[in-house]
Amino acid sequence: MSKEKILLSSPHMGLEEFKNVQEAFATNWISPAGPFISLFEEKLAAYCETKAAAVVQSGTAAIHLALRLLDIQEGDVVLCQSFTFVGSSNPILYEKATPVFVDSEKETWNMCPLALEESIVDSLEKGQQPKAIIVVHLYGMPAKMPEIMVLSQKYGIPVIEDAAEALGSTINGKACGSFGDFGILSFNGNKIITTSGGGALLSNNTEAIAKARFLATQAKDNAPHYQHSEIGYNYRMSNIGAAIGVGQLTVLAERVEARRANHNFYQALLGEVKGVHFLPEPEGYFSNRWLSCLLIDPSQTGGITREDVRLTLEKGSIECRPLWKPMHLQPLFTQAKHYGNSYSEELFELGLCLPSGSNLTDDQKQQIANQLKNVFSL
Ligand SMILES: *Cc1c(COP(=O)(O)O)cnc(C)c1O
Repeated sequence: MSKEKILLSSPHMGLEEFKNVQEAFATNWISPAGPFISLFEEKLAAYCETKAAAVVQSGTAAIHLALRLLDIQEGDVVLCQSFTFVGSSNPILYEKATPVFVDSEKETWNMCPLALEESIVDSLEKGQQPKAIIVVHLYGMPAKMPEIMVLSQKYGIPVIEDAAEALGSTINGKACGSFGDFGILSFNGNKIITTSGGGALLSNNTEAIAKARFLATQAKDNAPHYQHSEIGYNYRMSNIGAAIGVGQLTVLAERVEARRANHNFYQALLGEVKGVHFLPEPEGYFSNRWLSCLLIDPSQTGGITREDVRLTLEKGSIECRPLWKPMHLQPLFTQAKHYGNSYSEELFELGLCLPSGSNLTDDQKQQIANQLKNVFSL
């Protein structure tokens, strides 16, 4: 008997999404224009408490637009969290700017403010004012935004907050994506809510968001004919995607609850195992726990490694992944500078993401628990 594979994180539709898509069909708004687009934008901005939002085809596109809006030029230094998915840093290369990677601290696994300041001071000493900071809320855990925004102000460097994995996460009630000059979200199929593929750019700068919409529709000047004065992109989200997104937003709170319950489930199961570590939320921090992650230290588990766990679960048709491989270790970025204590390398070596979908059934959780109990002889 072949069991269906248990996935890391799969789409989970509510009841409104398909109705909205049917409405889009009924009204023939099958296009990157239409009423669900502005509705989704309004609802996202309201949810994150920013003044405006622009929805686009991916989170990566949203980061690219943020860099364009900050007028990043060839050779400009952009400081970027090293411990992330390549979508955070690829857009730096689109603009031929120079990525400089900053390592993580232990309390959130995100950008270390001390290493960030070191990278800024070093760049200034070389006569280069960094043009942007890209900070990431990985796996839903908010980065140390209060400290990072202090540095942003002290040195006059704008912040792009990559909240692709952190919709629903907050610090003292304030939404991830609303701290920086720009915030970005992703609605890729594996994210906490999805539009099948998509993203959003958030900001309190309504003019910048209007400009983002302009750049995302081929930068067409205001004329009856097609006239263009600068480089644009075909990045707008479709009305169909937005119809799904509007529906998904109505179940976001439930999705956050379910993902947090997954994390609690794994923690209750393995939290006491020697050498297994889960990341607690710092005071005032609220994580959507997009993926449940743990560190497995073989020097304390009696030799059981991350790979032992991953491969055992994989054999049982359960998908698991190592944590993100840091950007400063990627062949794509061998030329790039890197600051900090290389904690991200330890995270990459010891870390594992467990199945985390909000649609995991009790039976699936039991299957996963059985395999984990086996590996750790519980
Ligand atoms: C998913 C993701 C992105 C990019 O989003 P896409 O919509 O897939 O382009 C960027 N950064 C992080 C951290 C992500 O997880």
